[in-house]
This record gives sequence, structure tokens and C-alpha cells, in this order.
Amino acid sequence: MEQNVKNTVIKTNPGDNVGIVCNASGLQKGAAVLDGIILREFIPMGHKVALENISEGKEVIRYGEIIGTANQEIKPGEWVNEFKINLPVPPDLEQINYTQPKSENFEKLEDYTFQGYRNPDGSVGTKNMLGISISVQCVAGITNYIVEKIRKELLPKYPNVDDAVAFNHSYGCGIAINAPAAIIPIRTIKNLAQNPNFGGEIMVIGLGCEKLRPERLMPDGSTESENSILYLQDEAFTGFEEMIDGILEMADKHLQKLNERERETCPASDLVVGMQCGGSDAFSGITGNPAAGFAADLIVKAGGTVFFSEVTEVRDAVHLLIPRAETKEVAEALKREMKWYDDYLLNGQADRSANPSPGNKRGGLSNVVEKALGSMVKSGSSAIVDVIAPGEKIRKKGLNFVATPASDFVCGTLQLAAGMNMHVFITGRGTPYGLREVPVIKVSSNSKLGDRWHDLIDLDAGPIAFGQKTISEVGNELFHLILDVASGTKKVAADKLGIHNDLVLFNPGPLT
Ligand code: CA
Repeated sequence: MEQNVKNTVIKTNPGDNVGIVCNASGLQKGAAVLDGIILREFIPMGHKVALENISEGKEVIRYGEIIGTANQEIKPGEWVNEFKINLPVPPDLEQINYTQPKSENFEKLEDYTFQGYRNPDGSVGTKNMLGISISVQCVAGITNYIVEKIRKELLPKYPNVDDAVAFNHSYGCGIAINAPAAIIPIRTIKNLAQNPNFGGEIMVIGLGCEKLRPERLMPDGSTESENSILYLQDEAFTGFEEMIDGILEMADKHLQKLNERERETCPASDLVVGMQCGGSDAFSGITGNPAAGFAADLIVKAGGTVFFSEVTEVRDAVHLLIPRAETKEVAEALKREMKWYDDYLLNGQADRSANPSPGNKRGGLSNVVEKALGSMVKSGSSAIVDVIAPGEKIRKKGLNFVATPASDFVCGTLQLAAGMNMHVFITGRGTPYGLREVPVIKVSSNSKLGDRWHDLIDLDAGPIAFGQKTISEVGNELFHLILDVASGTKKVAADKLGIHNDLVLFNPGPLT
């Protein structure tokens, strides 16, 4: 098999002076690769080969960025591993200076559209769902019961509504509600309900005695509460059946309005795509994440919005992200979010173990900068226009850094609260990740996974590694898949199979 696969080395950016060996068995000494370079020694899969002479003290460039400096002369065709690269000094947030980047005149992408549900606030949904918020965990059993009943009894009457979902969580009481960190879970619950897929129809079920008052979960300036807030302890209800009837009556009013929503042609600038990875492998930074980054650039060029997140996976490349901040305020906000997370980890007496693991190194990742770059490459190359603190909603179109933990479902929940209407999830090891609230396009970084999980993965970026497809080809495919899925004309695997995970709140605050 292997003999039939041509020698494959990938250069992730035209400015790189190293390439990545993709062949599963590595490449032997004497193999001819990119630009006629002959390998001077055996190089294993995922590892780097010098594509030009790199003299001692010169920069080693991957992803178009400096990943370190050569501590010896490296000749073309030589293996560039961790022993030949000096690690750059870890980024000290205080020391990173900011200069505003020159504004680029990139070509605008026009004429790309999708069929979405336009909301009164201008946002666009890709699904049409009734979302039910809860102000306290005590009512979650009731909302689970209600959602089942709505699906069986009410949804058949409303063919334009896709589904009903409850944003259940374990917050709301037994909490230090005035602690500074409490704002994170509270605004997350509030903003989840305002995600474009719920059409602005807000419905909050409360208990009555909880610390988190349902009124705090209503949109700012909203005076509507009669049809939006219901307390189980309301003395108008005698017994369970009356309670359920009361909730169903309220749900019915919202469903009537949601049923009037129709898909209309919307420009690609209405896309809000959350990028995330999980279960990453050596190929994630070579295939899936760069293809996602290419698609991210297309979306931004079309005037749309892209999120990238996962603080712990970008922390060590933050000195490379700060120069991409559109303004000094954005750069300061990025530093603030990194510092907040540094302190959060420190308070938990955690060590973020920034150095790559032995497995990472065996997979070709020489140092922590290279590891972080492999993750952040899914942000593409455009300017970062804003930084969104955990649980906040987006304010600007373009590339946003949405500060979240890297933990998959916490990140997905916070990206939903920020307002994403499409989700792209890149995986190498494989995860059945799926969210009911938003379509999730799963991208495999290697074809071994893509083939084995043929019915769980939506797009295989693996062929990039063997030159069967380019990053731009797969990036383009992903861009068009995003438009088709957003239109409802294609269904993602998670939705076809009905595989959906629970949302998970990020609560860094104390319980009482
Ligand atoms: Ca993740």
C-alpha cells in the first residue's frame, strides 16, 4: 500500500521554511520531496523537513510564523526536530507590545447566499426551534417532561418548527450570586435563549424561591413577562397537571409565532460560524484546522462572522494573535482574557502543562508554540475585530475571539450564547460531538477516521495529507457545506442520527 503513495510533504504557508512529512511510514533518506529536495535522513510521519538552508540563529517558520530559532545549521532535506530548535521565550502578557496592523484591502466575496430565518433583531437562524430557559435546576425534571410532550403533542400542529429544547443546567440557587464570577453563568443562560435559532421567542420556567430571578434572564429592555415567565410555585396551579397545562399554553403561543418563520435568501455575511476542535491528533494542524482556517477567511471575506476560542490552546501563541488585533482595545481585551484564565488556573492550583507531551513530540510537534499554532490556525488569517468574554454576545461581524475553556461542551455552549448559527468541529481521534441547538459539521483530520466513521463525520480533510486535495479545495468544500447546511438542504450526521449532547455551563464562581 505505502509504496503506492507518493512522497508527500506539506508546506502549511508559502512563507514556511519547513514542510511536514505526511506518509504514514515516514520518508526514507534519499526520498525526493517538494522543490526537488532530497531527504538527508529518515523523517517520521508528522515531522518537519528543512526546505531551505537554515543557518544557526535563524528563524524556523511554520504556519508562516516563527516557532523557534535554529541552534545549529540545518541543511535542506534535514530533519528539523525539537533538539535543533531553541524554544522562544514564553509570551509574557505584560511585555507584548501592540502596533496597529496596516488595514488590508482584501478582495470581498460577494454573491454567496443561504436560506435562513431572519429575526427582528437582524440576526439569522439556521434552525427554527422553541428554546425553554430555566432559572434554577429544580425545574429541570419538569422541563424534560414538557419538551417530550411538546414534541409529541404540539409540534405536529406546527410543521415549520423543527424542535423544542430546554436549556437545562445545574445553576440558579445555592450559589454566591453576587460573586464577580457569577456573571458568567447568568449571562450565558440569558444569551443562550437569544441565539438566532430561537427566533426571539423567550420562555423562562422558574421555581419561585430561587436566587437567580427569571427576570434577569429576559433580554435587556424587555417589559414582556406575562407570556415569557412562569413560576411552578405560582398559587394559581393546583397540582402537576395544572402546572403542565400552564406551561403548554405558554409554549403554544410561542410556537404559533415560530411557525410563521420562513426561510429567506440571506447573504453569507449573516453566517456566524463557531470553530472548535477536540480529540486532536498530529494531522489536525496540517489538514482539518488549516482547511477550517481557509473557510474562516472566506466567511470573513464574505462579510460574515467567525469565532475561535479555547483559551488554553491559544495562550502560548498569544504574542502572534495580538498583532492581528484590529485595535489596541482588542489587543488589551485579548490580554485581559488570557490573564483571567492564568489566574483561574492558578486559583485551582493547576499547572497548564504547556509543554507538548511525549506523544505530541513523537507526532512531530517540536514545542508548545507549534502546538498552539496548530490549534489557532483554524482562525484563518484575518484581523481579530473583537474579544468576547465568556457568556457575552457578539457585537461585531468578522473574526471574533470568544474566550472559552477548551473543554468541548463548555466551549460549544459559550459559542452558542455568543450567537453562533453554525458550528464546525475538527477531530483527529474521533468524537460523536453533536448539539441539538445548532448544526455541527464534523471534520476529520485523517482519512483513517473519516473512513471508519463514515456515517459520523461530515467532511474528511485527510486527503490533504496525501496531496489528493489541497487545503483550499477542502476549505472551499467546507465553505459550501456550511452554506448548504445553514440552508437546511443538507443535514449533518449528528442531526440525521439524532446524536446530541447536553449543554454545559461554565461556572467559575462559588457554590454556597
Ligand atoms: Ca475543544
